[in-house]
Amino acid sequence: MADLNNTRIVLNSRPIGMPTDDNFEVQSIPVVSPGENEMLLRTLWLSLDPYMRGRMSDRKSYAKPLEIGEVITGGVVCQVVESNVADYPVGTLVSGMYGWQSYAIAKPDDYRLFKVDPELAPISTAVGTTGMPGQTAYFGLLNVGKPQEGETVVVSAASGAVGSVVGQIAKIQGCRAVGIAGGKTKCDYVVNELGFDVCIDYKESDFAEKLAAACPEGVDVYFENVGGEILEAVAPLLNKGARVPVCGFISAYNATSDDQIKTPEMVLGALEHPPESRFFVVTEWIDEFETAARTLGEWIKDGRLKYRETIVEGIENAPLAFRMLFTGENFGKLMIKVADLDSDG
Ligand code: NDP
Repeated sequence: MADLNNTRIVLNSRPIGMPTDDNFEVQSIPVVSPGENEMLLRTLWLSLDPYMRGRMSDRKSYAKPLEIGEVITGGVVCQVVESNVADYPVGTLVSGMYGWQSYAIAKPDDYRLFKVDPELAPISTAVGTTGMPGQTAYFGLLNVGKPQEGETVVVSAASGAVGSVVGQIAKIQGCRAVGIAGGKTKCDYVVNELGFDVCIDYKESDFAEKLAAACPEGVDVYFENVGGEILEAVAPLLNKGARVPVCGFISAYNATSDDQIKTPEMVLGALEHPPESRFFVVTEWIDEFETAARTLGEWIKDGRLKYRETIVEGIENAPLAFRMLFTGENFGKLMIKVADLDSDG
C-alpha cells in the first residue's frame, strides 16, 4: 500500500488528573504492507472507553500500563484492505484491539480478533452494544449480579455504553430497573427510550432521598460503574443477600493520589451485611463473546435493546473526545468515526 499514511496517537506523557492534549502526540508514519499470514486493516470506528485512562497511568492494576511512545489501547472496527490470509479476504470486517491508529497489521491467530457480521447490527455496535461494553453488561449482570425476576436492579452511568444495556437486560429478566444518571435529559432518555422504570439524577441535592424512594423494597443488585458518593447513597439500600458486580468506578479515574480513592471494596466491606460483590473484567468470558454478540444483536433487531452513540469525526480528535467520558458530555457509546466503509472492499 504505497503512499498511505498511518495516523496514530501515542502516549506522550502520563496524565495527572484529567488528560490534556500534551499527554498525547499525533504521528503520521508510512503504512507497511502485510507479510506472510498477515493482513492490513483500515480502521473505520475507534471506541473510546474509560478503562483507557487506567492504562495511561503507571498505578498498579490488573492490566499493564502503556509505555511512553506506545499507541493508545483501543477497540476498533476495521476493514481488511490487503490480505495474505485466505480466511480474511479484502473487504472482510473485523473487530480487535489495534488502538488509536488509522491502519494496523493483524495476524489471524490474535485471540481478540473477531469477524464482524454486518447483517447482525450496524457495524459500529461491534465496539458498542454487541461488542465489549454490551458484553460487559451482559456477563457482569447475568453472571455476577444474578438477577431474579421481580428483583430491583440499580445501575449507575445508566445512559452510557454499559449502563444502558444493564438496565435493558434487567427488564428482559423481569426485574425493576432503576437508573442513576447526570441531568434531566439523560434521565428522561433512560426511562422514555430505554424503558427503565425510573432514573434518578445524581446531580440533584436530594438524590439520596429520591433514590431511596425509588427502591421501596431495597436493592437486590447494584451494578457499579461510578463509585464515590453514588455508591455511598446506594450502599444503605442493599438488601441482605444483595449482589454488586463491580464493573468500574469512573469517579476516581482522574484522582491525583491513591489517598483520594475510596474503593467499592472499602465502602461495601464496612456494611453490617456486606453484599456478595466482586470486581470483574469482561475478558473472563472471552470464549463466549461470539454467542453473546448474537444474542445482543437479536435483541437490537427485535427492538428490546436500544442504544445511542456519540460520534466524533477524525482520529486526531480522539484526545479531546476522550475527556467527554469524564465530564458526561458523551451520551451513550462514545466513538470516533475514522473512515467510511468501502463497499468495494
Ligand atoms: P459511559 O458511556 O457510561 O461514559 C461514562 C459516563 O460516566 C459519563 O457519561 C458520565 O455519565 C459518568 N461519569 C463520569 N464521571 C463521573 C463522575 N465523577 N461521577 C458520576 N458519573 C460520572 O462509559 P462506559 O459505559 O464505557 O463505562 C462505564 C463503566 O464501566 C466505567 O467505570 C468503566 O471503567 C467500566 N467498564 C468496565 C469493564 C470491565 O470489564 N470491568 C469493561 C467496560 C467498562 P453522567 O453524565 O450520567 O454522569
